[in-house]
Amino acid sequence: MHTCDKCNGTMYLERAIDMDAGLVITVLACLNCGRRKVADAEPRPMTAPR
Ligand SMILES: [Zn+2]
Repeated sequence: MHTCDKCNGTMYLERAIDMDAGLVITVLACLNCGRRKVADAEPRPMTAPR
């Protein structure tokens, strides 16, 4: 379970797709305040296996 470093709320994993770059990034979004931060160290190509 991830908690927000700003409000201590619950964060959920959300996948964001950058269509222009063809990249998928995983971000953590806070249910409480809407804060987002990148969960992956770096974006990965959509075609790459996880
Ligand atoms: Zn928060």
